[in-house]
Amino acid sequence: MYDALTTRYTFPCPARGETRVRLSAFRALDRLPGADHPAVFHVVFDCPCGCEHRGLVSDVELDWAPLGHSSERFLNLMTDRFESTGEELADLAVRRILAGQWPWTFYCYPERRPRPVFPSSFFLLAPGDGSLGLAVRCPACEHVSVNLVTPEHVDLPFHNDREIGVLQHVLAGDAEGMVEEFRGELDSGHFDARRLDLD
Ligand SMILES: [Zn+2]
Ligand SMILES: [Zn+2]
Repeated sequence: MYDALTTRYTFPCPARGETRVRLSAFRALDRLPGADHPAVFHVVFDCPCGCEHRGLVSDVELDWAPLGHSSERFLNLMTDRFESTGEELADLAVRRILAGQWPWTFYCYPERRPRPVFPSSFFLLAPGDGSLGLAVRCPACEHVSVNLVTPEHVDLPFHNDREIGVLQHVLAGDAEGMVEEFRGELDSGHFDARRLDLD
């Protein structure tokens, strides 16, 4: 359901039958209680048909499929063997991570530092004036920070914006309150520029 070549997820669409969207078209991710291996997320996404739909996606599809790890296999007619679609991509991703590059990063406001992150830690996304508002639940301190990034920053692994906007406080309270606050703050201008270099 994730295609690493087009960097798009496939979901059912009531109008078109099937639709393909990038991660930056997601609007909310919510981890379902219970399932752990894999963890399953309920997502809301903006569909090209003009409506918002809901879908389900596993943590493997969120975090590893964009790096080329895939359970899908195809028959390679040159070698006559079943092979995984993303093996070369996955090898390359592992080499880059070992070399200290991280596929996704964000700026944690309470910790005052950039941190590596996986898309399964993304919480809310909203398109703005040429940029994308992104609320991330920090895997280390668990606070929710809001960054302003480019769509490519979330869609393309290893494409990290050098400088991003950082909201000058964390989102707190219950999920519903955070959604409200997130929407309100995106127009507020309470963002400071921060560099995202991890070293
Ligand atoms: Zn649709
Ligand atoms: Zn943190």
